[in-house]
Amino acid sequence: MPELPEVEVTRRGIAAPLRGARVQAVRLGKPLRWPLGQPPEALVGATVGAITRRGKYLWLPLHPGGGAGNRDGGDDGAGLLLHLGMSGSLALLAEAPAPGPHDHFDLVTDRGTLRLNDPRRFGAVVWSPSLQAAPAATLLRRLGAEPFDPVLTPPAFHTALQRRRAPIKAVLLAGDVIVGAGNIYACEALFQAGIHPALRADHLSRPRAARLLAALRDTLARALDLGGSTLRDFTDAHGVSGEFQAEAAVYGRAGATCRRCGGTVRRVVQAQRSTYFCPGCQRR
Ligand SMILES: [Zn+2]
Repeated sequence: MPELPEVEVTRRGIAAPLRGARVQAVRLGKPLRWPLGQPPEALVGATVGAITRRGKYLWLPLHPGGGAGNRDGGDDGAGLLLHLGMSGSLALLAEAPAPGPHDHFDLVTDRGTLRLNDPRRFGAVVWSPSLQAAPAATLLRRLGAEPFDPVLTPPAFHTALQRRRAPIKAVLLAGDVIVGAGNIYACEALFQAGIHPALRADHLSRPRAARLLAALRDTLARALDLGGSTLRDFTDAHGVSGEFQAEAAVYGRAGATCRRCGGTVRRVVQAQRSTYFCPGCQRR
């Protein structure tokens, strides 16, 4: 499943080349998770603005075309909200071959074709009149803080966790306190911070919450570095978590020896997801 680092690496790959691109055609394949919400023809002539990311969503501002003026007045108008779902990936193709059976959205522009390939079709491309209006605002409403947002201070993180009684691992995965802590990143950050995944979120002390936030940032930053350094281009972004897993301390290592304490890494199921942890290194 594409996680936040994959989505951010993708954004970095397409944002610069697509900024200012003019939409020439929109092609839809099989239905995705939600309908586009606008006739595809209505997008033709629009100009792509600065692409941003919120959680695992990408926002492509679309400025109406036809205006003679130089539109640099912000990106608060209409646009497309994209989500990669379980299996989606985006590619920006200079010469787009005919769409394959899993290519379900093409944004054809004068800078190339942005193509969504999504075999399982849990992904989405949804038009919204603005980021602050439905449907975009509705889809983004429950998202927690961005992991690198300076507003998310250690005390703010601790306060948010105080309101939750669920196990810390489940709270991280829920994404409504902080986004980006997908399963592999949540497991690795909890190991790094020495926190047992079953510990109740509201039982974390202030110092431990601060350690966990730092560990989450460090873990995601390493994944982003990996995405930026080891991949030839963003179309391979789906491999970031796979590459990251190769150096994971606990994720996917059930039964293996903990490199820190020499104990045995364990796997348990929490909220229907596999949790990997070291009972010797991670305390309640
Ligand atoms: Zn250990």
